[in-house]
Amino acid sequence: MKAIRVEEFGEPEVMRMVDVPEPQPAANQVLVRIRAAGVNPVDTYIRSGKYAAKPSLPFTPGNDGAGIVEKSAADFEKGERVFVSRSISGTYAELALCDVADVHRLPEKISFEQGAGIGVPFGTAHRALFGRGHARAGETLLVHGASGGVGTAAVQLAHAAGLHVFGTASTDRGRELVRENGADEVFDHHAGDYLDQIVAATNERGVDLILEMLANVNLGKDLTILAKSGRVVVIGSRGPVEIDPRNLMARDADIRGMMLGHATSAELAQIYEEISEGLERGALRPIIGKTLPLAQAPDAHRAVLEPGAYGKIVLIP
Ligand code: NAP
Repeated sequence: MKAIRVEEFGEPEVMRMVDVPEPQPAANQVLVRIRAAGVNPVDTYIRSGKYAAKPSLPFTPGNDGAGIVEKSAADFEKGERVFVSRSISGTYAELALCDVADVHRLPEKISFEQGAGIGVPFGTAHRALFGRGHARAGETLLVHGASGGVGTAAVQLAHAAGLHVFGTASTDRGRELVRENGADEVFDHHAGDYLDQIVAATNERGVDLILEMLANVNLGKDLTILAKSGRVVVIGSRGPVEIDPRNLMARDADIRGMMLGHATSAELAQIYEEISEGLERGALRPIIGKTLPLAQAPDAHRAVLEPGAYGKIVLIP
């Protein structure tokens, strides 16, 4: 089968399409014929060799994907439509081996491309909102970086759960998408006065919860716009940041880290069950902004780190 292979860590060009043997599922594993693979920022950190957890070389990137069950020793029938939220062999390939717990039925109304945009982004948004953020209906939420994979998922989940949702994006197109996803108010995180605009939109009370996609840029600012007992959940950060702890004391506020990989199996099962229900009832719909052939994985890795996010980027084998 064809697969993207990384033989050495480095720039996007280290990803090459090659022929590799088909993986064979053991007990409790499922082999999925991938119709679309999701590209996440973490795939680029891992490929570059700068991520804390390094896979042994060579490897095929990718945890997100959707397709059809090819072989299954357990639970699934050949031909079933599924999405996967983690992969043993990597989803940037024609076939991907997955643990049965990481394979989930794909609702008929959700395309394979959309299915490739569920696992990491929706799982992350769900755990950040409810598992770590303890979001409650009626609270005001700021999704700081709402136009990308995790942000679009967070806005949809929060809107469906009855929160008052604010979202940010740097482009008109991105902000339009955030609004279409259910945000009540949208802001430009590059506008000089956008923090004042956010506080004004809460009648000077501040926001109850912030999901932060770029903490190294925003964490210090986030602490100044929180309401009393407000929480910031750090989802993404690309470096250190200075904060004034007095802003925490003044509000009884919390900063909470969140890593999807820390979720227990039981937590993940519950998260994907609730996401699947939301997809079935039409409350959730993954947004695909760009579709590229699998061989163009290097272009996809460059694009996912560029400004002007618009939903997900997926690769088609
Ligand atoms: P993405 O699709 O590339 O989206 C990035 C988002 O950040 C876009 O909305 C982008 O908006 C926004 N952004 C860029 N500059 C910003 C700024 N100065 N202030 C606020 N927002 C800004 O990435 P993603 O898949 O949503 O992932 C978001 C982050 O979470 C990444 O750092 C990723 O590594 C991390 N992540 C963490 C976990 C975890 O388990 N903790 C899981 C998944 C992802 P514009 O492009 O319009 O500027």
